[in-house]
Amino acid sequence: MVETADVIIVGGGLHGCSTALHLARRGVSSMVVEKDHVGRHASGVNAGGVRRLGRDFAEVPLSAASIELWHGIEDLVDDDCGFHPTGQVKVAETEEEIAALAARVQHLNTMGYDHEIMVDRDTLFELLPAVAPHCIGGMHVAGDGYADPARTTAAFRRKGEALGVRFFEGFTATGFERTGGIWRVSTSDGEFEAPVLVNCGGGWADRVAAALGETVPLRIDALMMMVTAPMPRFVEPVVGSQGRQISFKQSENGTVIIGGGHRGTPYPDENRTVIDFDGLAISAKTTSHLFPIMKEATIVRCWAGMEGFTPDGIPFIGPSKTSEDAYHAFGYCGHGFQLGPIVGSVIADLVTQGNSNLPIEPFRIDRFDNTEETPQ
Ligand SMILES: Cc1cc2nc3c(=O)[nH]c(=O)nc-3n(C[C@H](O)[C@H](O)[C@H](O)COP(=O)(O)OP(=O)(O)OC[C@H]3O[C@@H](n4cnc5c(N)ncnc54)[C@H](O)[C@@H]3O)c2cc1C
Repeated sequence: MVETADVIIVGGGLHGCSTALHLARRGVSSMVVEKDHVGRHASGVNAGGVRRLGRDFAEVPLSAASIELWHGIEDLVDDDCGFHPTGQVKVAETEEEIAALAARVQHLNTMGYDHEIMVDRDTLFELLPAVAPHCIGGMHVAGDGYADPARTTAAFRRKGEALGVRFFEGFTATGFERTGGIWRVSTSDGEFEAPVLVNCGGGWADRVAAALGETVPLRIDALMMMVTAPMPRFVEPVVGSQGRQISFKQSENGTVIIGGGHRGTPYPDENRTVIDFDGLAISAKTTSHLFPIMKEATIVRCWAGMEGFTPDGIPFIGPSKTSEDAYHAFGYCGHGFQLGPIVGSVIADLVTQGNSNLPIEPFRIDRFDNTEETPQ
């Protein structure tokens, strides 16, 4: 049996679900083909950080457009997705870090954005009363915050389904052929046909791109997270650091969710990751260095999720350069959750009108062609 629709989307993470939802809102039918289950990978297990703070400058317009969608997320998907706009703060411990943050804010201002605000020591202690006394200031973005990743991805899926999107879980897309203007995608369990193909395959998306003749440098990595037992409330905003790899937040039930970049070992063909406990120990020490109350914390659980990384730290978003009516959206380098709501809309615009009113040229799929870049 062959399943048909207007668009085949490979990958049931947030980006695939968001693309399907935005297409449905434009009256375009789609099928999402997912090798495991929706939200099984990065989109379901991430830290839930919804931040414009500290973005690569190329991502700022998308991120700014996405935060608008986050603030109306319930209207979009009939669920608040656990979104808490608590703000985000990046802490500085040295004058050099303050100078780096100030230079960034100045550059953003020249781009026409004013969401990142420098804060002095007094304001930092107002925002973060429990921060360690040696911290001297930082940067604050009001309106950023955090959401529940699994709930968000499920909400996008549910709303898409209500609008007619079909999800096929347990189907691995392996073959991609285009004949007579129709894509035929062969999977482990059946054939799918549609005029348009969208690749939202996350850390595995380079394999889909390669099947279209587009070799890209993508490395899959296992970002690690841990969570504490409930603690007395001591912090409202999401906290990061200019000088250290750390990000954490205290959820409504008092638990502290800690991430920030230390990596385990990914086994993408086995859907398995192995935790590096030395890396987690560094993250734990860093949080207690920045917030002494964290010395009392008990870590109750840890995990890792697989994510695709590009050499320049920004994703691939846009049309295929080798195949007509094919589009890519992957390689978010650990910060694609916040972008999910808007990227689906961008891809839906590309499919329905051939362009996007947001600047996506920096994310073109062929930007590493003819360079010596290799996966890191
Ligand atoms: C631990 C961790 C913490 C993070 N924290 C944050 C954060 O705080 N804030 C933030 O903005 N971002 C964060 N991120 C990044 C964010 O989670 C990702 O950028 C985002 O979820 C990517 O969504 P996606 O849909 O592209 O990929 P995924 O969620 O990985 O989905 C891709 C899907 O494609 C499927 N697939 C692949 N190949 C095929 C195939 N051939 N056939 C069928 N299906 C296929 C996979 O099974 C997978 O389900 C974090 C990531 C991790 C891992």
